Amino acid sequence: MQIGLYIHVPFCLNKCRYCDFVSYNYNPDDARVYLEALEREMMYYSAYLANLGFKVNTVFIGGGTPTVLETGLLAKLLISARSYFCWSEETEVTMEANPGTINKHKLRTIRELGVNRLSIGIQACQEKLLQTLGRVHDYQLALEGIYAAREAGFKNLNVDLIFGIPGQSLNQWRESLYKIENLQPEHLACYSLQLEEGTPLWVAVESGELDPVSEEMELEMYNEVINFLTARGYQHYEISNFAKPGFRCRHNLGYWHNYYYLGLGPAAHSHMNMERWYNIKDIKKYAVQTMKGSLPVAERHTLTKRDVMVETILMGLRLTSGLDLAGFYKRFGQKVTDVWPREINKLINRGLLELTSTNLKLTEKGLRLGNQAFVEFV
Ligand code: SF4
Repeated sequence: MQIGLYIHVPFCLNKCRYCDFVSYNYNPDDARVYLEALEREMMYYSAYLANLGFKVNTVFIGGGTPTVLETGLLAKLLISARSYFCWSEETEVTMEANPGTINKHKLRTIRELGVNRLSIGIQACQEKLLQTLGRVHDYQLALEGIYAAREAGFKNLNVDLIFGIPGQSLNQWRESLYKIENLQPEHLACYSLQLEEGTPLWVAVESGELDPVSEEMELEMYNEVINFLTARGYQHYEISNFAKPGFRCRHNLGYWHNYYYLGLGPAAHSHMNMERWYNIKDIKKYAVQTMKGSLPVAERHTLTKRDVMVETILMGLRLTSGLDLAGFYKRFGQKVTDVWPREINKLINRGLLELTSTNLKLTEKGLRLGNQAFVEFV
């Protein structure tokens, strides 16, 4: 059986103002200690997966900012991971990168060590908006990062963009889309900004220092990205994700199909064999636990069949193709329309869901109001 592997690198140059991910300011000594602890966790799970007969078919190295690591440390991480989890040339191996932490030499090294998909967080093309977000880079550095990635041989690039940034106008959003599409990345992930409670950006909005973007404007920005990118040959295949034909992210598709995955590193989540668990968030406690030879698991939940069915429909509806009816029946021995008959009918009547002979999917209206549909199945 195949499984996706996620490896968390919890370091960044600086904390962005909207970020509530688990990440710490980078320092090479902490990173060395961390990589040793991570290697212990890899060692344990490589044997565990082999015993269960699981084979890693996609790898995603995220963070944090994996590329904040010095080239030598990145090489160590990749060599260890590859030897423990035996990637092949066909394995999709993605690494997240932040402009300002990459250069040609570093990118060439990771490319040679098996990373074949680079995901660059650019977020916006206007200096003012990048400052609002607290990014460590300007637009010029982002451009240089893309050029360096191409020179290093990356033929599969994703760019992350954010809309709904306080102070952002529809024209600025259009300009970002235009500039990035001109660079021809194979994939774009375009998210609306989530203002997470307690982050500096949330405080700035709550205190009135910054004006939030209205819901209507956010919807317009979302419509804009769908129209703009689909008119230029990108397939809109998930609520926030767009790909040129043949370049959908296989690792993330695993999440959306609710397949199994293993997460390594602090706060990383895993799902397999009717269980979900997540690791200790605190990096020091994670390292101590791992070096003691214990699993750094913070909490573990046994899942019921119903839990897995709910997760499968919630994740499946994120895809524009929707939930595969035959796949659901094969997996659970029940038709999705028998499990949630009233909810599905209600959402069809409200124009949010559509039932075809093969799939249950969000309508165009449903894509824009996904949360109103999801809540019915919880
Ligand atoms: S680069 Fe990503 S993980 Fe790091 S602080 Fe910014 S948003 Fe958070």
